Amino acid sequence: MIIVCKPLVSEEKIDGLISLLNEQGIQTHKSTGLMSTVIGLVGDTSKVDIESLEALDITDKVRRVSEPYKLANRKFHNEPTVVDVNGAKIGGKYFSIIAGPCSVESEEQVVSCAKAIKAAGGTFLRGGAFKPRTSPYVFRGLKEKGLELLLIAKQETGLPIVTEIMSLEHMHLFDDVDVIQVGARNMQNFELLSELGKCGKPILLKRGLANTIEEWLMSAEYIMSGGNADVILCERGIRTFETATRNTLDISAVPVLRQITHLPIVIDPSHATGKSALIHPLCKASVAVGGDGLMIEVHPQPEKALCDGAQSITPQQFASIVDDVRALCNIENKIL
Ligand code: PEP
Ligand code: MN
Repeated sequence: MIIVCKPLVSEEKIDGLISLLNEQGIQTHKSTGLMSTVIGLVGDTSKVDIESLEALDITDKVRRVSEPYKLANRKFHNEPTVVDVNGAKIGGKYFSIIAGPCSVESEEQVVSCAKAIKAAGGTFLRGGAFKPRTSPYVFRGLKEKGLELLLIAKQETGLPIVTEIMSLEHMHLFDDVDVIQVGARNMQNFELLSELGKCGKPILLKRGLANTIEEWLMSAEYIMSGGNADVILCERGIRTFETATRNTLDISAVPVLRQITHLPIVIDPSHATGKSALIHPLCKASVAVGGDGLMIEVHPQPEKALCDGAQSITPQQFASIVDDVRALCNIENKIL
């Protein structure tokens, strides 16, 4: 990090700031120019508050030269992280397909869906028990009962389960869940993220509706700094001016993330587009762009779904997508 001081600030004031930084354990390097002085901050500057430095009357600007995220940073951990859930792997050379209904509605619905997903080659079952809905008047999930039904589907198929947590109060209900999902709306629920850092389970962290890649990685950092290295990032579309799709799938986020982080990256074309007809082409694009997995909403009868029916595909459509994804994985040297 560097601090550029305003022109013609007195040496005394600059030395005062340097002493203040040194007292906080930050090493500095002063370089005096003709008009202004630049102070280089050496070592770990992750705790430095840029805004308060910028607010000082002697500061012109402050610039970071290294990223604020450390544990998620590829510079400090070059090998790709592979999250292994009882043998189902995501990351590195392993590609995974997470699929299931937006919400768990009944035993018959979730078990039949799980069986179809397993038969087609899906690797995880995903279903919502606690549903974040924009309107409080619509179906908000079966809650505890939904979790019980997911566990039945897991027993019947052997598929590990992924489901969303919305509140810390529900943490004790997630003991048998294999991967805990943090939804877009909770990406910056920092208390929740910190607790999940201590839970010992892989976390699927969805990108916030309007969050930058750096903010997203800082949220991953919250989980990782608690001791949990198993974070899977999920790109699910961002808010833009475009209205043709529910959100805009930020496909370029995948290769961007690949350069800067070692964490696995999953793409969710369902919430990104809101349209079942767009899922197949975007699944193919997700493999081609270098993703490590997909998260897809599948419903035995999409027209009757209690949530997100318009973006849900049938088990038959899912099977055809898996065939194409598998073929593309072979080209990309990924194992599905
Ligand atoms: C979901 O995955 O069911 C969901 C609500 O997605 P998001 O948090 O991405 O909106
Ligand atoms: Mn959904």
